Amino acid sequence: MMKIKNIEFCTSCNTRLVEKGFVRFPCPHCGETIARCVKCRELAVIYKCPKCGYEGP
Ligand SMILES: [Zn+2]
Ligand SMILES: [Zn+2]
Repeated sequence: MMKIKNIEFCTSCNTRLVEKGFVRFPCPHCGETIARCVKCRELAVIYKCPKCGYEGP
């Protein structure tokens, strides 16, 4: 169900997640895995769930 996928690219900017400090977490709406790189976390870039379109900070 709420399985975190091992996705390799940032949901917000599509950067490959090579640096430490990125996060993966399930979409609060549908549980789809969302990944964010360090930069997007620091800049608090809005993410958008690829599955349901949920947007969050
Ligand atoms: Zn990013
Ligand atoms: Zn979602």
